Amino acid sequence: RAVDLNAVVADAVDRLRLTAEDRGITLRVGGRVDAVVHGDADQLMTAVRNLVDNAVRYSPEGTTVGIGLSSADGLAQVTVTDQGIGISPEEQERVFERFYRVDSARSRQTGGTGLGLSIVKHVVINHGGEVSLWSQPGRGSTFTIRLPEWEDDGAAVDGPPAASHVTERRGH
Ligand code: ATP
Ligand code: MG
Repeated sequence: RAVDLNAVVADAVDRLRLTAEDRGITLRVGGRVDAVVHGDADQLMTAVRNLVDNAVRYSPEGTTVGIGLSSADGLAQVTVTDQGIGISPEEQERVFERFYRVDSARSRQTGGTGLGLSIVKHVVINHGGEVSLWSQPGRGSTFTIRLPEWEDDGAAVDGPPAASHVTERRGH
């Protein structure tokens, strides 16, 4: 199924707008492109929502979370960037494991289950994509999801039948 990533991102962001506002964090969405991928809109929305949820949760008040959408070389890319606590190099590999949570006061305070990122990884890999993480402790993190774009080979597009038209007139 063709999924419009713009709609997926907008949906994920809408669901977190109030939470972010409550925590004094600004959500900023940028870079609209026509990115259509193949897959399940609900699952992809869940993946993006988990990333934005983390960005909001692990960032201090007054910071901004940026959500960007771009496309290059047949890959659609969603980035979620925060100015939060960051993740150390040793922890970066482990945060995608099920139930893994960085042992910090901040993580303990927020009381999650440690499943969010394992779900992100699962969904993205099932969609033929990849997820990567860049982070600097104390500065922030960027999570990037890359997904193969929908290839319009004609056959895949199941549109309505070609239009035809006839005009009936009273005969002479
Ligand atoms: P939940 O299942 O509710 O999402 P969680 O947020 O603890 O719980 P994950 O989303 O899998 O679980 O994240 C795992 C851990 O990685 C977090 O507990 C946190 O320590 C760290 N982490 C994730 N995202 C960020 C981020 N944007 N900035 C800093 N640390 C993060
Ligand atoms: Mg989480």
